[in-house]
Amino acid sequence: MSSREITVKTRERTVMIDISSEVQKAVSAAGILEGIAVVYSPHTTAGITINENADPSVKNDMIRTLNKLIPYEDGYTHMEGNSDAHIKATLTGLSVTVPVIGGRLALGTWQGIYFCEYDGPRNRRFIVNAING
Ligand code: ZN
Repeated sequence: MSSREITVKTRERTVMIDISSEVQKAVSAAGILEGIAVVYSPHTTAGITINENADPSVKNDMIRTLNKLIPYEDGYTHMEGNSDAHIKATLTGLSVTVPVIGGRLALGTWQGIYFCEYDGPRNRRFIVNAING
């Protein structure tokens, strides 16, 4: 197994950043041919998800809908003032698992792995564990 921590600097409060190529680099560096890659966000206000990376309007629509469903202010009691970000992170989830086949992430043609920032801008990190098997 190989573990790698990758930093990401987010520049907006809510933004989805395609990290597919960084994850693939970590898998390639690990030399794993068949197995799985686990991508994990060690944060409470940022998540990880997989969705379309061909048309950028898809992620814009997702962010717009998340912001509509979970407004910035809605009578939350959390003193830090970022409850919407905590809720969005839980809805998105904090990790994804992707099969590795022939040394490549087995993503679908239109899929990308996204780091989802909900309380930026911040310096963030995510962990890629590439597991042989
Ligand atoms: Zn908080």
